[in-house]
Amino acid sequence: MLQAKRVVLVTRPIGEPKASDFRIEECAVPTPGPGQVLLRTIWLSLDPYMRGRMSDGPSYAAPVPIGGVMEGGTVSEVIASSNPDLVKGDIVLWRAGWQTHALSDGKGLTKIDPGIAPISTAVGVLGMPGMTAYTGLVEIGKPRPGETVVVAAASGAVGSAVGQIAKIKGARAVGIAGGKDKCDYVKRELGFDDCLDHRDPDLASKLKDACWKGIDVYFENVGGAVFEAVFPLLNAFARVPVCGLIAHYNDTEAKPPKWAASMMRAVLTKRLTIRGFIVSDFAARQADFLRDMSGWVGEGRVKYKEFVTEGLDSAPAAFMGLLKGANFGKQLVRVGPDKV
Ligand code: NDP
Repeated sequence: MLQAKRVVLVTRPIGEPKASDFRIEECAVPTPGPGQVLLRTIWLSLDPYMRGRMSDGPSYAAPVPIGGVMEGGTVSEVIASSNPDLVKGDIVLWRAGWQTHALSDGKGLTKIDPGIAPISTAVGVLGMPGMTAYTGLVEIGKPRPGETVVVAAASGAVGSAVGQIAKIKGARAVGIAGGKDKCDYVKRELGFDDCLDHRDPDLASKLKDACWKGIDVYFENVGGAVFEAVFPLLNAFARVPVCGLIAHYNDTEAKPPKWAASMMRAVLTKRLTIRGFIVSDFAARQADFLRDMSGWVGEGRVKYKEFVTEGLDSAPAAFMGLLKGANFGKQLVRVGPDKV
């Protein structure tokens, strides 16, 4: 009999997640009831926000319950349907989570046209991470021609799109990434004007040289040492879309705000705009995003890289690696083949 697999949360990690926080379970493939569809997962997206779902601290979203299937965006094939809107063979975007099979009543499923782009892009450059880059940069960063935009995690799913959109808007794009290979890729393949290694002990002075006219937009993906290097270089009226703080996701205690007072003074005197956002805040821009981004990807003006691990069993290790920069591009798990 065909078996399904799922990855459940066993313990809430303190600090870095470890393999024993997850359990891989085998179970029977479920049978769809009236109005339901049975989905077979093809692609599972792994994203940094999942670290937040493993904790039960205050957040904008509920945590995964202990014993519950880890959450995640997926691209799946409908393999059985009792739902009049979906037929066997349809490819759909949903949040089936870390499992090989799932049942759905069809609500919240989006059909994907495999003729437009590789279906994996629905959870990448043409999906949530691409939309995050587009909306955060355009709606909050508002880059103007000639301005300098800085983004960290610059070879990743969000950061790579941020810098390329900044270039399309006529700005200078300076990336920050972990290591020479990633920095070379960001400059040579993605066309950023410069890229610096955040592990370089001279990051602050090299960033100052690279941003000789100061920084007008800092798209915040990481926090930590990168933020400390960026902050003094912000120009008057600079905009800071605060998208993510991955350098802090495994923190076990709040760090004392040593320079919070001087930071707030700079927010005032430089009239800075610092605004946090969650991509869903800009749901109304979905159609604009899809129109612009699919055009740019089709024209080769926005490039993307996927970093794929094979099989659902690889998900826990791949996710732990993502938090440490082991991924080089959008982290995906190939759970099953495109066609069976
Ligand atoms: P990435 O594909 O960029 O992967 C994460 C990367 O973060 C790693 O590859 C690593 O790259 C970098 N990183 C990890 N630790 C550090 C550190 N201490 N200092 C600097 N860089 C670090 O992930 P995404 O593009 O999916 O996400 C990027 C950010 O955007 C995350 O903070 C995420 O939480 C946030 N996000 C927010 C959303 C929202 O709605 N607000 C939606 C989607 C994402 P490197 O090797 O270069 O260091």
